Amino acid sequence: MSFVIQPSEQATVAIDGSGKRFPVRRIYCVGRNYRAHAIEMGADPDREPPFFFMKPADAIVQNGATIAYPQKTENLHHEIELVAAIGEGGRDIQEKRALDHVWGYGVGIDLTRRDIQNKAKEMGRPWDMGKGFDNSAPCTALRPVSEVGHPDTTNATIWIKVNGEIKQKSTLDLHIWTTAETISYLSGLMELQAGDLIFMGTPDGVGPVMPGDTMEGHIDDVGDLTIKIA
Ligand code: MN
Repeated sequence: MSFVIQPSEQATVAIDGSGKRFPVRRIYCVGRNYRAHAIEMGADPDREPPFFFMKPADAIVQNGATIAYPQKTENLHHEIELVAAIGEGGRDIQEKRALDHVWGYGVGIDLTRRDIQNKAKEMGRPWDMGKGFDNSAPCTALRPVSEVGHPDTTNATIWIKVNGEIKQKSTLDLHIWTTAETISYLSGLMELQAGDLIFMGTPDGVGPVMPGDTMEGHIDDVGDLTIKIA
């Protein structure tokens, strides 16, 4: 195929212990998937079905990277999250088969320009500029299900430190919507395809990061993520 301009590069994430890569098609994110976080954001966790927003595939940032402090914000927030990587697509996937569609898992940060997001909420505008900006989706190398199982069917611990201090800490069994339920629900809205990532939502304790800060994220058995802000 010939193009009139150079096509952009395929976005990818690493695979743990392998030179192969996972090609990223779309990045879906679940909003408010922990009760305590929904409450800290001023929402009622008992009244909402899951809802979703997206980031562009090329918002992915590799583990170990240093990123620039993003433009047009004074309130960049960390949100540590489990990332589920879809290996087999489908639509209207039944909950009991949903986990068969997962290739593996990683540890991600849903970086958020909270001031822009809050303004969008206030004005009833889309979240894209608060959530889907450049370099807004750091993610570790993925680990396959054959090695890691399905972490949110366990009480695996998830945490993030900023400059060595714990800021968010919870367990994956506290997801309001499990990975299986989320895949089932989301595949009723959009056809999932191999290469899709789902950021599964963050616990309470979100807060700001500043230029010069180091974020270290962790999920038991899944991985460790280190991202610096220049
Ligand atoms: Mn999030």
